[in-house]
Amino acid sequence: MAILPIVTYNDPVLRKKGEHVEEFTDETRQFVADMFETMYNSEGVGLAAPQVGVSLRIFVLDADNMMDEEDEKPGPMAFVNPEIIEKKGMKIPMDEGCLSIPEVTDKVVRPETVVVKYKDENFEDQEIEASGWLARVIQHEYDHLDGVLFIDYLSVFRKRMHKADLKEIENGERETRYPIKPKD
Ligand SMILES: [Zn+2]
Repeated sequence: MAILPIVTYNDPVLRKKGEHVEEFTDETRQFVADMFETMYNSEGVGLAAPQVGVSLRIFVLDADNMMDEEDEKPGPMAFVNPEIIEKKGMKIPMDEGCLSIPEVTDKVVRPETVVVKYKDENFEDQEIEASGWLARVIQHEYDHLDGVLFIDYLSVFRKRMHKADLKEIENGERETRYPIKPKD
């Protein structure tokens, strides 16, 4: 396995629409394993393929640590070609951050519950209804596959608050506790 460097804010790959995975090869399997290792190494709860510079519709997550004690813990999950087929419940604000935008967090309003169809790490069809933190992480990571970042949801005012941070990240001047892809 390998820890992959993470691309940061303003890298064009974060703005591309990821491509569907047509075939699940040994190479894809290895890539998913590397994504898990990269996510755990950076202490993230989720990681999408574009964040390691690969424009494919794949993300991984493990949100167990974020959940309440009484919640059912699904453990590590891989989502290949996911599709959010339903959004429901109240729209609620929750704090979000992103490994590609280190140390910037803000509140984002999203639906409480989502129903997602996807293929798992064995390329088998799955469907899940998720709420709470799990739904939150799924929606955040899913956005990455469409080139959307959580800061896109912020008001002009809130975005202005983060301007200096974003500039520092963009310039490659922010220190992280995990490997970052150097700027070209
Ligand atoms: Zn993110």
